[in-house]
Amino acid sequence: MKKWLGLGVALVLVLILGAAWLLYDQRNSPPPNTEPAARALSEGVEPQPSAAQEEAPPMQNIAEFRMLDLDAGWFRYADGSVMLTEDGGVHWQQAGSDWVEPVDEEGTGEKKAEGAADQPADQLEQSIRAIEAAYIAFSPGEAVDYKGQRIAVKQAQPVSGQVGWALAAEGSGLVMSLLVTVDGGRTWHDEVTADVRAAMEEEKAQRERRAEEAALYGSPQLALQAMKPGWTLLPDRTYPGDAVLVRSSEPGELEWQEQTYKLQPHKADYFTYLPIPRALEPGTYEIGDRQLIVEEKEFKTQYLKVSEQMESMRRNTERIQADQEKVKAARENSASTFLFDSEFVAPLKGRLSTPFGYTRYVNGKLSNSHMAIDLAVPEGTPIKATNDGVVALADELYLSGNTIYLDHGLGLFSQYAHLSKLQVADGDTVKKGDIIGLVGSTGFSTGPHLHFTFWAHDVPVNPDVFFETTPFQWLKAPQ
Ligand SMILES: [Zn+2]
Repeated sequence: MKKWLGLGVALVLVLILGAAWLLYDQRNSPPPNTEPAARALSEGVEPQPSAAQEEAPPMQNIAEFRMLDLDAGWFRYADGSVMLTEDGGVHWQQAGSDWVEPVDEEGTGEKKAEGAADQPADQLEQSIRAIEAAYIAFSPGEAVDYKGQRIAVKQAQPVSGQVGWALAAEGSGLVMSLLVTVDGGRTWHDEVTADVRAAMEEEKAQRERRAEEAALYGSPQLALQAMKPGWTLLPDRTYPGDAVLVRSSEPGELEWQEQTYKLQPHKADYFTYLPIPRALEPGTYEIGDRQLIVEEKEFKTQYLKVSEQMESMRRNTERIQADQEKVKAARENSASTFLFDSEFVAPLKGRLSTPFGYTRYVNGKLSNSHMAIDLAVPEGTPIKATNDGVVALADELYLSGNTIYLDHGLGLFSQYAHLSKLQVADGDTVKKGDIIGLVGSTGFSTGPHLHFTFWAHDVPVNPDVFFETTPFQWLKAPQ
């Protein structure tokens, strides 16, 4: 008797749970006639007594479909009735009698107003479509893999880099003939499950990141050139002493000149700066799947005469080393993303007294190469931040005098030396053009001037390649 009672309680529990589930399902399922096509069709085989089911169109072949983007689309049954979706195929709703087929906005442009494609926004949009197309692993018209079998398709449409739709040909034996992929065509689904929809949402976010990244390059055409699968060198021809920005579609690391550089995510891709050492042999170097050509460059020689007192400064190796450690530590903590979003500017206008890269002799003895530019201007001239950044170090150093290092992210720093006055402190956020200090002649200096350079990681690099541009714009159109 107890056993029966136990069973009875269990049965009641099951009924209560079942009712609760039904209620829950009712509240969470779409209103009638927005039933997912996949469900509606597959459940047609196994009828269920629901209001939506009764209103679903009779099971029949889908004649054609068109997705307008990652959300909206339509398909047409053989009898001419049309189903619409606004959520990437999760729900489908029968089109009203006043429905007209939307104008093709991304296709060949035949239906477009003439000249519309000449608008920069349209060009950018077209470039992003083309970038995405390069990532698609299936081509319209090909058969697709569905649950381990090859299915012939009569229509296929890539929608983005990962998402695409295909209509199985008649006789495929599929209950639901409209298939969707969210991994570039490797696997296909006959239903837009929560996972499939989540992948579409991620793809929408990726499309936004692609648009943001594409806007960083010089033009939509250059964005298309830069953002292909694999690696891009910005630029792919360079000189000793310059810097290169490396982009990859995949995360990873890069070995270069006995250093390891980690690629950092930014927008849709991964990046690192590579410093090209001044002493690097000209030639061709393999970077990822690309070739970097380092051209020959001649650096001039400069002879400098300084007082015996000044020359003796350079022999205080203990102080020099202590400063170097301080600076190295400051340069170790760079932001993991680009801190600027526009062109770099010169910190001031002045006579170029020493260009970048000069071989220097001080009092007849070979000294370090001059890995900066010197701009001779009167004492007290205001110095502008070359771009947005964060003050990594603002300190009085022995040789470079009052010195500022600005972090611009991903290991790129600008350096300002021999200042008479520091007007920022460690950790300050600065905007391009902000006055950060005044020109002076502190440290190892023979007269008022600004010693200015960039550092890519721990290597000083040519500041001239930054002015009036950004590393993203270093990519040039093919000649
Ligand atoms: Zn200098």
